[in-house]
This record gives sequence, C-alpha cells and structure tokens, in this order.
Amino acid sequence: NRRPSSWSSLTPQDIFIAVKTTGRFHRTRLDLLLDTWISITKEHTYIFTDTPDVEITSKGYNLVLTNCPPEHSHQALSCKMAAEYDRFMASDKRWLCHVDDDNYLNPGALLSLLSAFPLDSDIYVGKPSLDRPMKAHELLEANKTKEVTFWFATGGAGFCLSRQLAEKMAPWASGPRFEETSASIRLPDDCTVGFIVERRLGVRMVHSPLFHSHLENLLMLSPRYISQQVTLSYGLFENKMNSIELKGAFSKEDDPSRFKTVHCRLYPFTSWCP
Ligand code: UDP
Ligand code: MN
Repeated sequence: NRRPSSWSSLTPQDIFIAVKTTGRFHRTRLDLLLDTWISITKEHTYIFTDTPDVEITSKGYNLVLTNCPPEHSHQALSCKMAAEYDRFMASDKRWLCHVDDDNYLNPGALLSLLSAFPLDSDIYVGKPSLDRPMKAHELLEANKTKEVTFWFATGGAGFCLSRQLAEKMAPWASGPRFEETSASIRLPDDCTVGFIVERRLGVRMVHSPLFHSHLENLLMLSPRYISQQVTLSYGLFENKMNSIELKGAFSKEDDPSRFKTVHCRLYPFTSWCP
C-alpha cells in the first residue's frame, strides 16, 4: 500500500515517530511532550506504553499498548522496540524515528535532515553513543562466543531508519526475533539495532551531531544552534539537572527541561506562549 514516491518529496506524515514511555511517566514526562512538539506531529506520532490512559486516548493521540513488562530491563525495553518496529512495518510510512519520553523532537529539523538523504536508500542515522565502536560477544552454538564490533545510535538521543533498510532487517527484527537477537548479544535495544544494521546487513550508520541525549553535557550546546538540532533531552546527572541553557519567558522552575522555552522559540504563535 505504499504510494510511488520516487518523484515526490518527503512530507512530515511520511515519518512514523515512535515515542517510548511507561505508565509512571505519563503525567511526569509525556504530558510535556503532548503540550509541545507532539501537538505539531500528533497525527503521525505513536506512543508506545504498557499502561492504558483514557486521558491520552480521549484526546485522539495514537497510544499503542504493548504487552511489555513495565520495567527498565533489557528484555522489557527490547520488547517495546520490537513493537515499534512491527507497527512501523505495518504502516505505509517511509521513515521510522524512535525517541524516548525525555526527548524534544524538532519536526522541521527532522524533516530537513531526512529530506537530504537519497530516496529509498539504506539509512540508519543517529548520534553514536561512544567515541569508538561497541564491542559485543555474540553467542554461537555450543556455548562459543565471537567478538564483534559495531557503531550504534544512543536510543536516548533518538535515531531514524529508512523503510528500505528496515525491510532488510526483518530476519533479525520482526516479531520475536528482535528480542532473540538482543539476547544473543546480551545488550539493550539500541545496541541491537546497531548490531543488526552494521553486522548483519553491512550498512554503516550515519553519524549525526544533531541528536542529543542527557548522557552528554547539554550546557555545551550553543543557544544559537538549538533551533537547528533534531532532538534535545534533559535529565538528572549526579543529582543536578542537565538541560540546555536557553533564555525565554519561562523560569527554570516553570520549565526545568527548557522544552517549553524551545517550543515557544520554534512556534511563537502557540496559545500558551507569552
Ligand atoms: N522506560 C520504560 N519502562 C521502564 C522505564 C523506562 O519504557 O520501566 C522508558 C522511558 O519511558 C524512556 C526510556 O525507557 O523513554 C529511558 O528511560 P529513562 O529516561 O528513565 O532512563 P535512561 O536510560 O535515559 O537513564
Ligand atoms: Mn532518559
């Protein structure tokens, strides 16, 4: 059911945005995203969670209930990634972009980034988690292991996969296979995506500096370039808030993540923006 696309340019609705969350973060994290960037991308954003929530579904958001356990275990998180992958594959979208519930996603910057890639090519783009490739010990038969190295994009910074590449990943990613692949290298979901793309398919990840997780020092981001970034994040680091520094109408108390401030910079005509 894919429309012939080689002559048409990318539209926002071509992008399947998957947000990973869990019941206890619906009010504390997700609501902020619904009020900010998801208000722009609502129609093509899918929220993957483990707990029903009428407050969200009654407002018309796409909430996808997984049967995954509400835990931070490798297995539970791989279960959610597998659900994102399968749901994307069943859609007619051209890109799968994954983010966490502590990410701000800039819809315009995302569209610019993805529009620059050749149509229907094998693309896996995100921010490398480390400054060197990941090392894993792949489990082989008879309890043997083999050391393998590959790059992967930090899940907490967000990443995107083109449909053509996602289709080639199916033998290691569809249905129960994603969790099996994850278990075979004993690494989390984001590492597993890198392993499948780079080691199973031989496709090199595209390293982008435009994705950001709270594992990096977000104060280092110059305010001048914030509106060009594809993703932002926030979180506690050694008990202190790690967030971007951006001046605006909201105080640090009213907007500790700075997501409201960024959103009002990008979309100043939003009703609640000063
Ligand atoms: N998460 C989840 N189930 C859990 C805990 C976390 O699905 O039991 C999700 C959470 O909503 C977020 C991502 O996993 O999208 C990463 O969680 P968090 O930011 O708390 O931890 P981090 O790994 O960034 O330190
Ligand atoms: Mn996080």
